[in-house]
Amino acid sequence: MSGGLVTAAYIVAAILFIFSLAGLSKHETSKQGNIFGVVGMAIALIATILGPDSSNVGWIIVAMVIGGAIGVYLAKKVEMTEMPELVAILHSFVGLAAVLVGFNSFIGHDAGSMPQVMENIHLTEVFLGIFIGAVTFTGSIVAFGKLRGIISSKPLMLPHRHKMNLAAMVVSFLLMVWFVKTDSIGVEVFTLLLMTIIALAFGWHLVASIGGADMPVVVSMLNSYSGWAAAAAGFMLSNDLLIVTGALVGSSGAILSYIMCKAMNRSFISVIAGGFGTDGSSTGDDQEMGEYREASAEDVAELLKNSTSVIITPGYGMAVAQAQYPVHDITAKLRARGINVRFGIHPVAGRLPGHMNVLLAEAKVPYDIVLEMDEINEDFPETDTVLVIGANDTVNPAALEDPRSPIAGMPVLEVWKAQNVIVFKRSMNTGYAGVQNPLFFKENTQMLFGDAKDSVEAILRAL
Ligand code: NDP
Repeated sequence: MSGGLVTAAYIVAAILFIFSLAGLSKHETSKQGNIFGVVGMAIALIATILGPDSSNVGWIIVAMVIGGAIGVYLAKKVEMTEMPELVAILHSFVGLAAVLVGFNSFIGHDAGSMPQVMENIHLTEVFLGIFIGAVTFTGSIVAFGKLRGIISSKPLMLPHRHKMNLAAMVVSFLLMVWFVKTDSIGVEVFTLLLMTIIALAFGWHLVASIGGADMPVVVSMLNSYSGWAAAAAGFMLSNDLLIVTGALVGSSGAILSYIMCKAMNRSFISVIAGGFGTDGSSTGDDQEMGEYREASAEDVAELLKNSTSVIITPGYGMAVAQAQYPVHDITAKLRARGINVRFGIHPVAGRLPGHMNVLLAEAKVPYDIVLEMDEINEDFPETDTVLVIGANDTVNPAALEDPRSPIAGMPVLEVWKAQNVIVFKRSMNTGYAGVQNPLFFKENTQMLFGDAKDSVEAILRAL
């Protein structure tokens, strides 16, 4: 394949990636968006493998078959609830790849073969690529560990943590200046290795000091970092498509992080600097909040029959229980009785953005009754019954009422304003942020204990 043809293929692939992102932004077009992405990636791979810069195609194909087989196996095996973990560990691979490409590019480059300015630019690319890659690598591993529960979701509160982060960045910058300016190969190797160690520790510490409630932002921020790491690798390899793709991933991840911060009322800078609002002054998990009331499935069925408007607010527990199918059936049954049933979706319900939308779409719940938090929050006071199915942090009034709460300031679904609230969960345990929920102790709230799927099925039978 000639260089010109490869460039043309790269442009087509880049356009397909842009269409893919556009498609993925709405449920209705998300499948189409995925297909655009797959086709774009297939074109990119074929053009790269058959292009003039590739050799040893046999080895590339062997690596692709092994990588592809692992990918297909994992994609088939992974549960929807484990998706953020998978994404986090995949980001770590991108980071590691950028580090390896950086070292390879440093070892392989012929000093003196290019003008001084180009040489300096190349060395800066190598340095930045390795730095971003190393931060992404360890940061993603910690995010993976936190999401999987191997590492505590509580923020790591080392003394002077912000100063340590700042020092890591300043020292790395000084090392970069030294690395680019020096003529000694020994100093180059020393500065590069020292920076790599600092960046690995920095990435680890950066994510370790962020609390569980801010994890969604971290995952999308690492997504952004992995994009920039790929773009840096693209510069080192002089691969235009990698630069474009990396920039697309980097900027879309950054925009998503920003949107999520806005949705959670967090300052983006504070979140990525580690643990805003998590000074540990109040976790609320050991507070005595009073009495709670219990309901049976039959009580809830009766309540639903007598309601004219119902809002269902699903959360992580619905995903764990795989309750979306009976939830669909109950919705259909209530709507057939003329009851107005709608869904209220918090932007960070579940364990990844859009988690609930995907589950409900899977169960074929009509899109037009699935509303975003902002679209439905004002309707709770006129609602007869709210079913909180496996949600906890996203319906916690403490976010608005207790300024000392770790989730203070996060907008939440104001379910407690409805006439009746039924909370489906298995115990009085806290949700992801580890904060107790005063909603459970409100007068208009009743707890329906048990696995969410069993509870919904029991209500369905009673209906
Ligand atoms: P939470 O994680 O706050 O709470 C989930 C609730 O579901 C728990 O209280 C649990 O209680 C209950 N539950 C678990 N399994 C079952 C089951 N089988 N049947 C019934 N109930 C069950 O959920 P939310 O969706 O409200 O909040 C999401 C949280 O996750 C937020 O803190 C968010 O910041 C964070 N997060 C979100 C991400 C995203 O992008 N969406 C990514 C990473 C974190 P019990 O154990 O008693 O059953």
